Parts: sequence; C-alpha cells; structure tokens
Amino acid sequence: MKIGILGAGQLARMLAISAHQLGIDTVCVDPNYECSARDVTKVHHADFFDLHEIEKCFSGVDCVTYETENLPIEAIHSVSKKFKLHPDIDILSIFQDRLSEKNFLNSLNIPTVDYLDVNSWHDIEYAINKFSFPFLIKTRRNGYDGKGQAMIHNTEEARAAWQQLSGKPLIIEKFVNFDFEISIISARNDKGETSFYPLVLNQHKNGILFLSQAPYFNEKLETLAKEYASVILRKLNYVGVMTIEFFCHHESLLANEIAPRVHNSGHWTIEGAETSQFENHLRAIIGWPLGSTKAKCLSAMFNLIGKKQIVSDLLNIPGAHYHWYNKKPLDGRKLGHLTLCTSNRNEMEMNIEKAIKLIRY
Ligand code: AMP
Repeated sequence: MKIGILGAGQLARMLAISAHQLGIDTVCVDPNYECSARDVTKVHHADFFDLHEIEKCFSGVDCVTYETENLPIEAIHSVSKKFKLHPDIDILSIFQDRLSEKNFLNSLNIPTVDYLDVNSWHDIEYAINKFSFPFLIKTRRNGYDGKGQAMIHNTEEARAAWQQLSGKPLIIEKFVNFDFEISIISARNDKGETSFYPLVLNQHKNGILFLSQAPYFNEKLETLAKEYASVILRKLNYVGVMTIEFFCHHESLLANEIAPRVHNSGHWTIEGAETSQFENHLRAIIGWPLGSTKAKCLSAMFNLIGKKQIVSDLLNIPGAHYHWYNKKPLDGRKLGHLTLCTSNRNEMEMNIEKAIKLIRY
C-alpha cells in the first residue's frame, strides 16, 4: 500500500508516522522547501499546478489525500482525474470556501452564524445596518489560525479592513458571544462504516487553538453534533476523517468550520484514544475497517506555539507526551504539541495548571 499526500506539514508528518506503523508507504508533494514531514517520509518539492511532476512523485500510489484544504482547486481537479482522491474533489471545493461551506450547511438545516457574501463596499454598509457591531470580515479562502480576518467595531475599522482585504472574495459573519467551542471528529470509510470520537472542548487565543480537552461530557450536545456530522457524511458519501468546529451558544450548536481532514483538535487521539485520528483516516481512505474511537483516559492537548520549549520540564508533568514538528520557531507558528493523559479529573486540573506555567509563548 502507498498513499500520496498533498502538503508536507505537521499533519502529513503525523499521518506518515501512523502509516509507517501500519506498513503503508507515503509520499508527499509540497511547493514549500521547509517541510515538517521531511524527517519521516519522502517529500518532493513541486508546484501543485505541475501535474507532470506530481504524476511522477505519486507513481504507484493507491490513493491520494491532503493535509490542508487550502489547495488550488483547478490544479487538484487535474490530480483527481489521475488518482483516487479522498475526500473527493467536490468535498474539497465546498469546504475550502467559507461561503460555499455555510451555504451547504444551511441547505442541510445545520445552523451557522448569520453571514453575508461581500462583493462591494455597499455590501459592508448593508452589514453595518443589518448586524450591529462588532462583526467579522473574513477572506473566503486560505484563512487559517485567525489569519485573513478582522474584527470590526466601527465604520472606520470596516473601511480599513475593506482597503486591506478587498480584491479577495470576502464574507461577513455576525460576532457570536458563544459560551464555548467544541469539535467533533468523525471517520467514514467507503463501505459507509462511520465512527465518532468523543466531543472535544477547544480554547483559542488570538484565533489559534491553544488547548483541547477530551472527552467533553455533554450528552445533549454530543447527540446533536453526531447528528449534524452524520447528515454531512451521508450527503457527501464522505471517505476519510472529517472535523466540525462548533460554537456553543445557549445550549445549541452553530457550525463554524469543517475540515475535510485530520485536525489539530484531534491530536489528543494519538495517546488518548484507542485508535488515533491519523490511523483512522488512513484506514478509511484505504477501505480498511475503522478502529475504535473510544477515549482511553482524559486528555488535554496544548499547542506549542512560536517558541522552543524546555522539554525536560514539560516531561516532568505526569502523563505528558511531547511532539515536536522540527519547524523553525516563528511568532504564531505551531511548532509542536503536548498531550497530558490521566484518568483522574483532579490530577488533570493540576497538570493543566503546571503546563500553563511551563509552556513558553
Ligand atoms: P476561524 O478561522 O473562523 O475558525 O476563527 C478562529 C477563531 O476565531 C474561532 O475558533 C473563534 O474563537 C473566533 N471566531 C471566528 N469567527 C467568529 C464569530 N463569528 N464570532 C465569534 N468568534 C469567532
């Protein structure tokens, strides 16, 4: 078995490590030179539009998957004509654009924040009247970790954001004063076998995921999240791992974003679940049976952002597991993660406090 991966960052790295254990060969294609996956698998430097080169790199693969939805769709269309792509090209196309994603969710009666398509300053004036301040202006594509978005508190800020972002397709979202954020990670194979991981409670800082805790026990929300995920998976005849991020507001869920791939809020599954999200993604796209998604313990996953860490201090925390992606430290860049595991709730709280004191930001 051999799998081609579009992109060679940390998600590809963790997919490749998992593939290695399963006896699956991997090969990545990435236009960037600095690639975290390079330490653990073959990485070819090629432009996503260079179909000839991609065909050469992916020669002999059984299927192709991707670690990011921020891919040039026309180029990937050509790739999908040559190789079996999971999740498929239509799914990638819906979820790489915040507008088509929200339109799709609403067509399935899955609630989202109120939003408006923005094509002109006139649309922004309309939003100012329709939504009271604050609201968010976001680029429809290529936004991640809070990039490509601005919180707007008044007309001046709206004008500045329009000057900075106009020229790119945009969307306006009403600001939701949510109670908390959760995500659900699911896996589905081509036989329609479907599994869900327990809910994850997520905390962001400056738009970047900071801490994920799982399982988050809330029967009502879990049932609702699974129901929404099932509708999407079935509708799209989905194959692979899929993540939905939700805002929880007054006991209801608003879908914020869908990732058609393994997700940062699922890194805890490496040590904290019976089968990791990476292994289940591989199993799903190959057509193997899915592994159990049950949690083995309580887990808390911290992203290690921007700075090198004092590893020995972090590993002094009982039940700590350290992952480093071998990337150059840079402000706001995800460089690694730390997962804490224990079966004792009080111990988890104490260990989280220790980690917060020790992690360098
Ligand atoms: P996004 O890139 O859309 O996932 O946004 C990153 C983070 O910014 C989210 O996880 C939220 O914490 C916050 N955020 C994004 N959109 C909204 C919104 N419409 N209302 C409130 N907070 C938001």
